[in-house]
Amino acid sequence: MRAEIIAVGTELLLGQIVNTNAQYLSRGLAELGIDVYYQTVVGDNKRRLIEAIGIAKGRADLLVFTGGLGPTQDDLTRDALAEFLGRGISLHEPTMDKIMKLFADRGSALIESNRRQALLIEGATPLRNDMGLAVGNALSADGISYLLLPGPPREMKPMFNNDGSAWLRERLGAANSLHSVMLKFAGIGESMLEDLLLDLIQAQQDPTIAPYAKEGEVAVRVSTKAVDAEEAARKLEATLTEIRIRTKAFLYAEEDVPIEATVVRLLTERQLTLTLAESCTGGMVSELVTTIPGSAVVYRGGIVSYSNEVKMRQLGVPQELLEGEGAPGAISAETAQAMAEGVRAAMDADFALSVTGNAGPAAAEDKPVGLVYVGLAERGRETRVEKLQLSGDREGIRLRATKRALYMLWQ
Ligand code: ATP
Ligand code: MG
Repeated sequence: MRAEIIAVGTELLLGQIVNTNAQYLSRGLAELGIDVYYQTVVGDNKRRLIEAIGIAKGRADLLVFTGGLGPTQDDLTRDALAEFLGRGISLHEPTMDKIMKLFADRGSALIESNRRQALLIEGATPLRNDMGLAVGNALSADGISYLLLPGPPREMKPMFNNDGSAWLRERLGAANSLHSVMLKFAGIGESMLEDLLLDLIQAQQDPTIAPYAKEGEVAVRVSTKAVDAEEAARKLEATLTEIRIRTKAFLYAEEDVPIEATVVRLLTERQLTLTLAESCTGGMVSELVTTIPGSAVVYRGGIVSYSNEVKMRQLGVPQELLEGEGAPGAISAETAQAMAEGVRAAMDADFALSVTGNAGPAAAEDKPVGLVYVGLAERGRETRVEKLQLSGDREGIRLRATKRALYMLWQ
């Protein structure tokens, strides 16, 4: 099945909003095994919308629309497609009931234009909207499938994932659906990982192996087409086993979770606590850890010791490490160690991570950009420090340093 995504909205063309729906849908369709050949953006204009439908119909057999299902006069997607197909439009009673109930609950009179959100193109299957009012439309005509989804991402995503995907799967037949396992790695760069798997990647046919990097982490997606999960597991097994053996030291999860989630889960299971002393990451480790629900059980808090003064006063880093002729300086293994040990003692935690380094853009303390030390202090054990030479811009270095610190804890 070849798909085209048509995002509708003048705001998109004016650059007022980013077309995140197209990205989300592209990825979602790929997961269903549907190839997206084109993404189109068109304004809230019926004539141009009809023109876009005509073009898309000539080069794709699934057209996925997002936007323009709302109540106002500029919401034209349904009208345009109905006109293009020469079909009528009728009211979807359950949606109308839901809209009326909402207005009744609010104690206000129905605004007539809201009726538009309950309209279905003749012959269309309604797609449930759990987050809003506008009903989605799914229909087939002349061998072409059409999916009409709302614009607001919080409505569009669940509609696509629930009724939308179910409708598409029915059309595809089970044999076509793509099953994949996401492997997540830390402590290794994309190119090094690719190197470890190079012969597998080069020889791949089925399953396919796709490595990629995002948000400071590296992932590999291993996919195959199968009738059900059982058949998929059978087809994926040999490849997964081989990858596991080769990458054992870096493979922290076999699902799409960030390393901070894995670390919080492990600490929770073992009833251990964590504290942090951050310099160049400025609280980024703390930020990522606290994005994980339930982190309060394991994370005691931390100190952003950006200045030498705070390193000394709050963490007890000895002055002679930081200042004076021949001192190792703030960006050093010695300081990373003293920071981790200092904060662990201060917070009485089982583990402490510390990060100190130069995130750029200029050299500091005569130390190169990207030089970062990560420390791990553990109750009853010797403190470990790792020296890293990271690449990237300031944000990239800070993010990689954060992920590497968490990786050290995971190890
Ligand atoms: P509504 O009922 O809110 O009018 P709608 O289905 O008519 O929904 P639009 O009017 O096209 O959708 O867009 C509503 C809002 O949804 C936009 O202001 C924007 O915030 C968001 N939105 C629309 N299209 C996209 C898109 N392609 N990517 C990301 N956000 C989008
Ligand atoms: Mg609208």
